Amino acid sequence: MSDHIHTLALPRIRALSPYVPGKPVDELARELGLDPADIVKLASNENPMGPNPRVLEAIRSAARHLTRYPDGNGFALKARLGERFGIDAAQITLGNGSNDIIVMVADAFLAEGRNAVFSQYGFAAYPLATQASGAECREVAARAWGNDLEGMLAAIDGDTRVLFIANPNNPTGTWVDRPNLERFLACVPRHVLVVLDEAYLEYADDADLPDGLDHVARHPNLLVSRSLCKAYGLAGLRVGYAVSSPAVADLLNRVRQPFNVNSLALAGACAALDDDAYLEAGRRVNRLGLAQLQAGLDELGLCWIPTRANFVTVDLGMPAQPVYQSLLRQGVIVRPLDGYGLPCHLRISVGLEHENRRFLDALATAIKEAAHVAH
Ligand SMILES: *Cc1c(COP(=O)(O)O)cnc(C)c1O
Repeated sequence: MSDHIHTLALPRIRALSPYVPGKPVDELARELGLDPADIVKLASNENPMGPNPRVLEAIRSAARHLTRYPDGNGFALKARLGERFGIDAAQITLGNGSNDIIVMVADAFLAEGRNAVFSQYGFAAYPLATQASGAECREVAARAWGNDLEGMLAAIDGDTRVLFIANPNNPTGTWVDRPNLERFLACVPRHVLVVLDEAYLEYADDADLPDGLDHVARHPNLLVSRSLCKAYGLAGLRVGYAVSSPAVADLLNRVRQPFNVNSLALAGACAALDDDAYLEAGRRVNRLGLAQLQAGLDELGLCWIPTRANFVTVDLGMPAQPVYQSLLRQGVIVRPLDGYGLPCHLRISVGLEHENRRFLDALATAIKEAAHVAH
């Protein structure tokens, strides 16, 4: 019976592999019979600092109106974003996380007979949204673990409508600098919408990392996607936004679900945007944590990919699955990257100091175990 239902779905949907999220803390706690408080999760690039008290207060206050539908236009949040970044509300599209933005772009611009260009080791949501739309995925071989801009330009043809590029990139942490981004944007043909995904931009304090918003006015075919789920700490609330030309925003608004960002998320996002101190504290924790992780990995003699984000991807030089499993048994969750074609790598999100320490100790044990089994 259920097999029959399966045959009724669109072939391209049947061919999809669902997105695999980082293992939830409660799931591992159930499996191991452990207290969730004893588990360290460094698997989903989440903010390790815990919720911002100002956000919690804003949510408590907004909850009084929970029986009302949210403001479907997100007036207050767009006004806050507009003020903060010097942009017009008509340029902003709000998303239920920035993943929602990616899906809206695919709904509005992609279909059978069209294609989308993105990089090998690019974010998993790009091929998923492209395949679901019926468009062709043009995956361009990575260069030094990141986006090969020249290769991506060469992959564009008359049927290309979208080009996805994450800066910094997930899952490798690589980045594109300002001169290269500017040259690239000048070369992309006008019939291609460039989605510049800046989910981790707030972590990159290198002055060399370009701010996509500086380029939106000059490029009507550029959409900059941002997330409040990473540095702003709202992963569980789900808020993201896009900044584009008003014309692109108008198109996305046609496919957007009427109340895609809920009222608690709208209120929490406004409060989060007002609190620079939380953002700054998070950046500091990240800077120190990255240095701690990289030094620890160096001590273990492991190669890692230079990163501007809140995670580091390490080459174990051996299959990562046994190491990942051993880490799980020790109560530490990280992210295996088999799905990205990187079976010997693990991606580790930066945690608090004691969490990073727990991971590094557990990794040393896991590697010893794996070497022992191999002999
Ligand atoms: C995490 C992530 C997102 C999406 O995050 P949301 O939680 O949906 O805002 C988008 N792009 C990249 C590259 C990411 O890593």
